[in-house]
Amino acid sequence: MDFSDVEKLASLSPFELKDALIKVASQGDRLMLNAGRGNPNFLATTPRHGFFQFGLFAMSEAERSYVYMDDVGGFPKRDGIEARFEIYVNQHRDVPGVRFIEAAVSYVRDQLGLSAGDFIYEMCEAILGCNYPVPDRMLRLSETIVGHYIHREMIGTHPFVGRFDMYAVEGGTAAMTYLFNSMRENHLITAGDTIALGMPIFTPYIEIPHLNDYSLVELAIDCGPETNWQYTRKELQKLLDPKVKAFFLCNPSNPPSVRMSDEVLQAIVEIVRKRPDLIILTDDVYGTFADNFTSLFAMCPHNTILVYSFSKYFGATGWRMGVVATHEDNILDRQIAALPEARRKQLDERYSSITTDPRGLKFIDRLVADSRTVALNHTAGLSTPVQAQMVMFSLFSLMDEPQAYKAAMKRIVLRRKQALYKELGIPMVFDPNSVRYYHLLDMEDIITQMYGAPFAAWALKQFRPNEALFRLARDTGVVLLPGRGFGTPHASGRVSLANLNEYDYANIGKSIRNLIDEYYALYQKRGAAAKTVPAKKAKK
Ligand SMILES: *Cc1c(COP(=O)(O)O)cnc(C)c1O
Repeated sequence: MDFSDVEKLASLSPFELKDALIKVASQGDRLMLNAGRGNPNFLATTPRHGFFQFGLFAMSEAERSYVYMDDVGGFPKRDGIEARFEIYVNQHRDVPGVRFIEAAVSYVRDQLGLSAGDFIYEMCEAILGCNYPVPDRMLRLSETIVGHYIHREMIGTHPFVGRFDMYAVEGGTAAMTYLFNSMRENHLITAGDTIALGMPIFTPYIEIPHLNDYSLVELAIDCGPETNWQYTRKELQKLLDPKVKAFFLCNPSNPPSVRMSDEVLQAIVEIVRKRPDLIILTDDVYGTFADNFTSLFAMCPHNTILVYSFSKYFGATGWRMGVVATHEDNILDRQIAALPEARRKQLDERYSSITTDPRGLKFIDRLVADSRTVALNHTAGLSTPVQAQMVMFSLFSLMDEPQAYKAAMKRIVLRRKQALYKELGIPMVFDPNSVRYYHLLDMEDIITQMYGAPFAAWALKQFRPNEALFRLARDTGVVLLPGRGFGTPHASGRVSLANLNEYDYANIGKSIRNLIDEYYALYQKRGAAAKTVPAKKAKK
C-alpha cells in the first residue's frame, strides 16, 4: 500500500476507518493486534450463573402447568412461589449460581425491603419471556433494584433529593438514538439549534447532530493533555451563551478515559445556576470503573439526562443493555409544558392514542412511546429476559460489599497500561481521575519524551492525517483508532485497554517504539547529511 489515498479516508468515522486499518494490518500470517475495539475481553461470571439458575427454576414453575401435554408449559404461579424457590435452592445447593440467587432473594427482601415472592415471580416471568414488558418503561421491581444500583454507582453519598425514573433500553446505543429523536419530536432541540459537546467524545455524538435528521450546530467544549483532559473554566464559560440549548458529554470521557474532577463538576454546577434552562446529557458508561464516582446527574439532577450501559463493565455488549434516567422533577418536562400553544396542541395529537392526558405525559414516557413510533407503544420496552439479567448484574454489584469485582476490573486495565508503558520505555503518569478503559497516546508527547521536541516536530510533519496509524498497522500489525475522529485536534491514537491480553499491550508498546526508532534513525541520517552541506549554502 502506498499512503496516497489515506486522506480520503479521513472523513470516515474512526470505527469505519478501523476496517481499513485491519485490512492493512492482517497481511501474511503475522499476528494482528486490534486495540481499536471497545469491546472488553472479560465478563462477569457470577451474575450470569445466577441468570441461568433462575431460568431453570422458572422452567420448573412453567412445567407445573399442562403436565398432561408434552412440550407445553404455563405461566409461573405467584401463590407459594417463595416456598418452592426455597425447596429448589436446597435441592441444588452445589450448583454454581444457586447460592447467588438465594443470596439475591435475601438481599431484595432483607436489605431493599421488597416482597421476595413478588421478586421471584417477576424474575420467572421475565426470564420465560411470556408476557409483553409491563410496564413498558421498565418492569416494576426491576426498576427499583436497578435504581439502587444506579444510585450507588452514579450518585453515591452525594445528597440527592427526590426520585428518578428509568427506562431500560437496548444499550447506550439505543439510549442515544431514542433521546435525539424524542428531544427533536418534543421541540427541545430544533434544526439550527446549537448544542455543546464535551470533546473529545464518543464519535456518534459528533456524527448524529450533523445528520439531516437533526441539522444541529455543534459547539466544542475542548480539553487536552495539558490539563489532564479536564475542561478549563474558560472553555466551560461557552455554556453561558443562551443560544446553547444542550450540553452532551461522556464522563468518564471516551477516549481519554478521565472522569471530571470535583472542581470541574462544581464549575458546571455554577454554570447551571446561571443557565437553569441548559439541558445536560451525560453518558456515564465508564463511571462504574471509578471509585466513588459522582455523575453530573447527581450534581444537577433537574437538568440532566443520565445514560448508562451495562456493556463495558459486565462484558455484556451482546446483551444490549442500558438505562436512561431522569429526575421526577426536570426541566425537560417544564420546557415541554412551556411550549407555544400550537406546538402543545400538535404534541397532544401525537400522543393522544396512548393517553387521555397527553399534557401529563412525562418526557421519559414520551421517549418510550417515540421509540416505537407512538402507535406501537403497547409493545414497547426492553425484552424481559434482558431486564432479568440486568437485575442480576445490579444485585451482584450491590451485594459485593468489599467491591471485589470493581477492584478486579481496575486491576486488569491498570496492568495492561503498565505493560504498554514499560515497552514504550517512558514513565506512565498516574492520574487519580483516570479510569484507564482507553488510553489516548498523544504522538507529540510520546515522541518528545523519547527523542526531544525538535525531532517530534519533524516527525509529525512527515505524515498526512492517519498515515502514522496506517504505517503502524502495515509495519507492525497494530490497529489503533485515530484520536482526531473523536474530536481532539492532537495527533493521537486510541488504545483500548479492554480487549487484548497483557502481553499484547507489551507488544503494542514495543511496536510503537520500533516505528519511532526507525524514524529517528532516518532523522539522524538526514541531519548528518545536512551537516556535510557547505555552511554558506545551508544558511539560505
Ligand atoms: C460503548 C459506548 C456506548 C454504547 O454502549 P452499548 O450499550 O454497547 O450500546 C455508549 N456510550 C459510550 C461512551 C460508549 O463508550
